[in-house]
Amino acid sequence: MEIIKSIEEIRKISRETKSKNRSVGFVPTMGALHQGHLNLITESVKDNNITILSIFVNPKQFAPNEDFDAYPRNYQRDLDLAKDQLVDYVFMPNIKDIYPIGYKTRIVVNELSSIIEGKYRPHFFEGVATVCTKLFLATEPSRTYFGQKDYQQCLIIKRLIKDLNLPIEFIMVPIAREPNGLAMSSRNQYLTETDKEKSSIIFLALEEAKKAIASGELKRKSINAFMHKSLRSVPEIKLDYAVCCLAEDLSEPEIFLKGDKIVLLIACYLGKTRLIDNSLMKI
Ligand code: AMP
Repeated sequence: MEIIKSIEEIRKISRETKSKNRSVGFVPTMGALHQGHLNLITESVKDNNITILSIFVNPKQFAPNEDFDAYPRNYQRDLDLAKDQLVDYVFMPNIKDIYPIGYKTRIVVNELSSIIEGKYRPHFFEGVATVCTKLFLATEPSRTYFGQKDYQQCLIIKRLIKDLNLPIEFIMVPIAREPNGLAMSSRNQYLTETDKEKSSIIFLALEEAKKAIASGELKRKSINAFMHKSLRSVPEIKLDYAVCCLAEDLSEPEIFLKGDKIVLLIACYLGKTRLIDNSLMKI
């Protein structure tokens, strides 16, 4: 496994690989790797001749009041895990190469970026779309792997790839969870043991709402109310949103129809830690 810092060098490696009719898988991350990231790597290694993992804590997707400085960084552990997972190249660019002095360009995927999660983190998806575009242009992958854990992000990156005619296949990988249902996240390190136990209510709220839907509840507001009720049973949870939408475009019809593919999305705080989760279902 090689560590590459230079954009030109990673691009050269990717181009040379593809010129020999070999495929390049790309897994973008911010490091602090856990099983969720490792599952993306496993899929990429399975599908492609080489896999590039990027580790870059992207300042542009953190608001000033968020945890950019405190974000967990443990590069040696990440590199050991990446090597075990058979990653070929770890791309770790410097901030000044990704955002050179005087940097001005922004990538915005309209509408999808300003609803639901975008309402609570207004600059987040612009930061994600901008850095992913830059990472795609540096690594020129055949396929890229993202986690369903960040479902809205998946829709945005899929849209961006289509809109910019990037020749990249997008693959969404299911959510990796702790035994109690908590979706794995680098930020789970911030949770106390008690918080971790309490956090299982998020997965339970998703499951309870899905049960209600399966037994015939199709009104959006009632489905949302099911999730709210479950989450209220843990007073320490401060809810940002718990909503049911059409999975395709996150629109919110009053009533869902048989055959609809839906997604239930939750974001909440437990203490100071913000947690997100979701679940897909066909009605
Ligand atoms: P991050 O390092 O948090 O930016 O995440 C990098 C990639 O890993 C993104 O595509 C995430 O959606 C994905 N990811 C993070 N947590 C999980 C999880 N629990 N299950 C599956 N994918 C995940």
